[in-house]
Amino acid sequence: MLENNNVVKKGLLLVISGPSGAGKGTICKELLEKNPDFWLSVSATTRAPRKNEQQGINYFFMTKEDFVDRLAKDDFLESAEVYGNYYGTPRESVISKIEEGKDVILEIDIQGALKVKESYPEGVFIFILPPSMDELKRRIIKRGSETEESLMRRFKSAYKEVNYVSKYNYAVMNDELSEAVEKIESIITAEKCSVERMKENILSKEGIIHEQLYD
Ligand code: ADP
Ligand code: 5GP
Repeated sequence: MLENNNVVKKGLLLVISGPSGAGKGTICKELLEKNPDFWLSVSATTRAPRKNEQQGINYFFMTKEDFVDRLAKDDFLESAEVYGNYYGTPRESVISKIEEGKDVILEIDIQGALKVKESYPEGVFIFILPPSMDELKRRIIKRGSETEESLMRRFKSAYKEVNYVSKYNYAVMNDELSEAVEKIESIITAEKCSVERMKENILSKEGIIHEQLYD
């Protein structure tokens, strides 16, 4: 986005995580449909594609050897082993989109989110909560994507994962989908109005607010 003095204002980095089945993917899809200007990062993974998943659209599916090779080249902003597979966020595309002024969404697990928080604390970290653990289980089953073993692994992990909510900036319960999406849109709006993010804009409007206000 071009701002005062033709300086390109950096985009937001929005990190969305939460237990499997909470509805992260569904929320991100809806957010992108409503806001085509957002950019969703496509992760690399060693997990096998699910029915209907496409290479380069849902994930960059790759072998463990290729993943390890990319890891050694420091190609990932963060990476983690999640439910027995490796996942990683391609660094270069994320950083360049933010620099271009795009608002970037990462849909990643908690370990990955905490790593991003260390290297990029100005990110906005949102935890998606299910309305209940019973509903979470129903949703994973309804998705029909997991074997019994994988389902139980994901479901058991959820009990530990929810404890990490306190490390995030925001928690959004995904009961009614449209409400959860609206809440995230409101968070984005509020973040863009934060004094810290508005600093350059306000300071460059000569005479409106004195620089010393920020000292
Ligand atoms: P995650 O990406 O967190 O693993 P998904 O987005 O794949 O979760 O959602 C898991 C299942 O729950 C899917 O079948 C999805 O259609 C369903 N789902 C997502 N959000 C809601 C909601 N608000 N109400 C009911 N079902 C939902
Ligand atoms: P799934 O196999 O259901 O697509 O994803 C399993 C978990 O991996 C989800 O919690 C999802 O958010 C997470 N995940 C997807 N991509 C990445 C990534 O690039 N990095 C990390 N750390 N987690 C990811």
